[in-house]
Parts: sequence; C-alpha cells; structure tokens
Amino acid sequence: MERTFVMIKPDGVQRGLVGTIIARLEARGLKLVAARFEVLTEKRFTEQYREHLEKPFFLSLKQFIMGGPVFLMVLEGRDVVPLVRKMVGATNPQEAAPGTIRGDFGIDTGRNVIHASDSAESAQREIAIHFTAKELCSYTRVDESVIYEY
Ligand code: UDP
Ligand code: MG
Repeated sequence: MERTFVMIKPDGVQRGLVGTIIARLEARGLKLVAARFEVLTEKRFTEQYREHLEKPFFLSLKQFIMGGPVFLMVLEGRDVVPLVRKMVGATNPQEAAPGTIRGDFGIDTGRNVIHASDSAESAQREIAIHFTAKELCSYTRVDESVIYEY
C-alpha cells in the first residue's frame, strides 16, 4: 500500500468543499491515515512548494495558500499517488475533465481547490513536511476485503 499527501487549499475551505472532497476520497475506498486543519507556516509552505521558488507565481501562491486555513491529509491505498492525481484533475481547472475535483469545482489555475503529490517520492517528502511518524495511523478499514480483489 502506498501513501499520498493531499491539501484542500484555502479556496476549497472557504467554499465549504472540505466535506465533499473527503467524501469523494473515502467513497473511492481510500483510507484516511492523518489529517490536520490549520494555517501553514511560511517554513512549511516554502518546503511544500520549493520546486516553484523561482516561478513568477510563487509570491501570489504564497499569499493565497498562507491566507487562510487549509485541510491537510494523508491517504493510503493501492497506487494511491496516480489515483488521487486522476481524481484531482489537471492543474488548470479549465482543462480538468468533468468528474475530477478541479474539473467540477474550479475555474482558475490560481484557485484550483486542492493539492496532491505528483509522485511516490514527492508524497514521501510532503508527508514528512507536515506530519510526524506518530501522527500517521495504521489500521485496517473493515471494507478493505471487498474494495481490493487481492
Ligand atoms: N500555480 C499558479 N499559477 C501557475 C501555475 C501554478 O498559481 O501558472 C499554482 C497552482 O495553485 C498549482 C500550484 O501552483 O496547483 C503548483 O503548480 P504545479 O504545476 O505543481 O501544479 P499541480 O501539481 O498542483 O497540479
Ligand atoms: Mg505540483
């Protein structure tokens, strides 16, 4: 089983989409292993988005992401990293397919509702930025035997 990091951005929180988004992820069969609601510190924001440090949108992204509370999650499931990226949809919501979170709830790239790790390596790195090992809960969901074939 693989783990991924997901963050509902301040626009998703402000728009009351936290419950809707968690419901989609849970209903897919993914297991919630950690969660926290908070405003990101500058240090953790910068670590999270370090690959974009030199990008022209970095400052506006920082003001936006640190401008309000976000909902952080770690999810577990088979091939969960690519699976959640598919559920999230393209970075630009205009190009995100209907049925994806960005395709159903977003319009602008700078207000695209949700973040999800883009690779297993990013997931490991991002989980460690936001959560300690103790905060990650290992347990079995009672429906796992009917969600997975083997
Ligand atoms: N972003 C932006 N303007 C851009 C490109 C990206 O504001 O032109 C923001 C947007 O919130 C995006 C985040 O920066 O989700 C990270 O960009 P990335 O290319 O990694 O997209 P993602 O992995 O989130 O799909
Ligand atoms: Mg990215």
